[in-house]
Amino acid sequence: MARNNLREVGDLNDCLFCKIARKEIPADIVYEDDDVLAFRDIRPQAPVHVLVIPKRHIASLADLTQEDKDVMGHVTLVASRLARDLGVSEGYRVVINCGKDAGQSVFHIHMHLLGGRSLGWPPG
Ligand code: 5GP
Ligand code: ZN
Repeated sequence: MARNNLREVGDLNDCLFCKIARKEIPADIVYEDDDVLAFRDIRPQAPVHVLVIPKRHIASLADLTQEDKDVMGHVTLVASRLARDLGVSEGYRVVINCGKDAGQSVFHIHMHLLGGRSLGWPPG
């Protein structure tokens, strides 16, 4: 672990999405590889609402470093492919909420993929 400090070790043990990535908590997984996991949101806000995460713990967009470049490119590519595979390529939205004021409630970075209905703009 490149950024092995006490705070991160605590995060890894307690983090909900780390637990989902380790299969300690069940989820409706729609895609998985060595580095990335995608699963359906437990409280879907659209007919298709999937969360795409790096398996490695990164708290938020604000915490990204150079070493996260590849995995976040990978997350984006998975979201793009899933939009096609889940049948929403006519129009969908990807969202990363960053920080409390933006409504981030789980501090393990995740890309929401939302589609299957018409989406208003600007978001609330
Ligand atoms: P945020 O508000 O941090 O951008 O998004 C967190 C998302 O995680 C929310 O949409 C919420 O419904 C979802 N979520 C919270 N707990 C769980 C869970 O245990 N399982 C799944 N699949 N989704 C969850
Ligand atoms: Zn985590």
